[in-house]
Amino acid sequence: MSPQPSSVQSSSVEAGPTKADHAEYVLIGGGLASATAAKAIRERDPGGRIVILSAESNVPYHRPPLSKEFLRGDSDFTEAQISPKEEYTTQNIELRLGVRATGLDLPTKTITLDSGETLSFDKLCIATGASAKPLDSAQTPGAGAPNVLTLRTREDSETLRGHLQPGARAVVIGAGYIGMEAAAVCRQKGLEVTIVDTNEHPWSKNTSAAFGGFLRRYFEAQGVRFLLKDGVTEIALDRSGKATGVKTKSGETVPCDFVVAGVGAKLNLDLPKAAGLLTDDQEGVSVDAFLETASADIYAAGDIARFQDPVLEKTWHVEHWQNAEWHGQIVGANMAAKFPSERVAYDHLPYFFSDEFDLHMTLRGDPQAGKSSFVIGSMGTDTERFTEVYLRPDGTIAMGIVLSKAEDETAASDLLERLIRARALVAPHQSALQAGQMKLEDLR
Ligand SMILES: Cc1cc2nc3c(=O)[nH]c(=O)nc-3n(C[C@H](O)[C@H](O)[C@H](O)COP(=O)(O)OP(=O)(O)OC[C@H]3O[C@@H](n4cnc5c(N)ncnc54)[C@H](O)[C@@H]3O)c2cc1C
Repeated sequence: MSPQPSSVQSSSVEAGPTKADHAEYVLIGGGLASATAAKAIRERDPGGRIVILSAESNVPYHRPPLSKEFLRGDSDFTEAQISPKEEYTTQNIELRLGVRATGLDLPTKTITLDSGETLSFDKLCIATGASAKPLDSAQTPGAGAPNVLTLRTREDSETLRGHLQPGARAVVIGAGYIGMEAAAVCRQKGLEVTIVDTNEHPWSKNTSAAFGGFLRRYFEAQGVRFLLKDGVTEIALDRSGKATGVKTKSGETVPCDFVVAGVGAKLNLDLPKAAGLLTDDQEGVSVDAFLETASADIYAAGDIARFQDPVLEKTWHVEHWQNAEWHGQIVGANMAAKFPSERVAYDHLPYFFSDEFDLHMTLRGDPQAGKSSFVIGSMGTDTERFTEVYLRPDGTIAMGIVLSKAEDETAASDLLERLIRARALVAPHQSALQAGQMKLEDLR
């Protein structure tokens, strides 16, 4: 389930400004959610005009490679593209690159572009995604130095790649998945790497101390240093204003050649907020299970969509690759639906993956609902594979993490999906599962 460039041939109409006009379908945002939605519309409506407005100048691309193979220099940008440029032309999808939507008027269904043009629509999808949160200069003096980097776009990844010289010293702030992936690549390229985080263990937001402890030991065995339960107080600068060290709360100054700030992302909500759509700064734009907002014909998808999730029975947003693709497919189908009966509701179980060194990690389920966990298999640093099961207070399975080296995790991921959807009662079988007397496959 890792992102694969589409096999379909494509092309882009990087049309210059056209006169103020009308399109049946407009997609704001040039990421995975928009690109997927556009294709899903075209599969159902061969003739309707589709316009993608993208603030970025690149053909829509997958972001996961930016902190993995693309950053390492093991793949080029064409491999990260969602579809080759030509496919957009072939499919008659207008891809307007470097064009930002600056205004949205709901009553007249009109968008204003930064070029000053206006574009009206019948159906709209807002998929503006998120931006990397920079380190706050007010709280962390020196954070604005040019070699204090973030990682969200192709350009960010290329800039960081330019710093990956063997022997150079990197300080990564934040032990979440972006920070950990970037740190792993830095180490693989022969850099000295220190990770600083205020929390007690890596991936602290959604995983157990046992899992985080495993990751920490694994990274340490690869030569990465951690400063945990610590924080950054200041970035030390040289006379030219470049970062030369990271000062921490514990009083240490870690010398560095550059800093990577992996301190989270901020949802791009200015446009839907100003338009008057219901939004929450942390959770995004409110939509129903069809991903439609309270304003008819206006949809939201991907990172910014706070959707009603009938599987997990909650309202939330998810900032992951597979979610953006699923949302794009659903929104595209619903925007092109001619009859209510053709509409598709969200019906997926969250999926997230991460690759760090030679570890492949797959998470399925609700990362917020597990209150305790246990491990099937070994968490030693020489492990080939283990599964960690997260339990709800009622003993049912909320989430599972499968960690493996170079193994296909599809079957394990499907098994977790089946158990979580079935609300399988796992707690009574913990000892038998851990002792190998029973398998997860045996549960109903
Ligand atoms: C470095 C990195 C690594 C990742 N790795 C993983 C991983 O291993 N596994 C995983 O599950 N997920 C991963 N993700 C997360 C995943 O890539 C995102 O969840 C996904 O890209 C979200 O897609 P999206 O289309 O919703 O938004 P985005 O990809 O953020 O795209 C939004 C687009 O909208 C544009 N835009 C914003 N405002 C406007 C406007 N007003 N007008 C026009 N355009 C606008 C933006 O410039 C951007 O191009 C990673 C993310 C990053 C950054």
